Amino acid sequence: MKIEKNKVVSINYTLTDNKGITLDTSAGREPLKFIHGIGHIIVGLEEALEGKIKGDKLNVAIAPEKGYGLKNEEMIQKIPRNQFDASQPIEPGMQFNAQAEEGRMIVVTVTKVEDDFITIDANHPLAGETLNFDVEIIEIREASPEELSHGHVH
Ligand code: ZN
Repeated sequence: MKIEKNKVVSINYTLTDNKGITLDTSAGREPLKFIHGIGHIIVGLEEALEGKIKGDKLNVAIAPEKGYGLKNEEMIQKIPRNQFDASQPIEPGMQFNAQAEEGRMIVVTVTKVEDDFITIDANHPLAGETLNFDVEIIEIREASPEELSHGHVH
């Protein structure tokens, strides 16, 4: 059986950035299971896995355009310090939920702290990064009709 749309695929993977730093890995956990071809995983990885079979191992570098996108400078903002709770210490790397203009919740990361301004970045933390995936295909099976109607693996 080959990997194609609507197959349930299990993979072990390690994701590293271009400096060789591990960003995420399934090591020590259950393999990642997903329904192929419906956008559960980033498009670049779906493309790399298409047509592969159980036992295949691959090493792919995925450009930001097919990963989490390029960094959008408009999503980086300087906000006056006095708009934050003064009693709360704020440090670079902190993340919090914020409401975007359309009303949905997004995660923003503090990237810079100055006396009068806090810089926050609402880009995905991996935006602009080339993603290097080391993948082993553990299992491929048909998705059940129920899984397909729910849009997730049972
Ligand atoms: Zn379900």
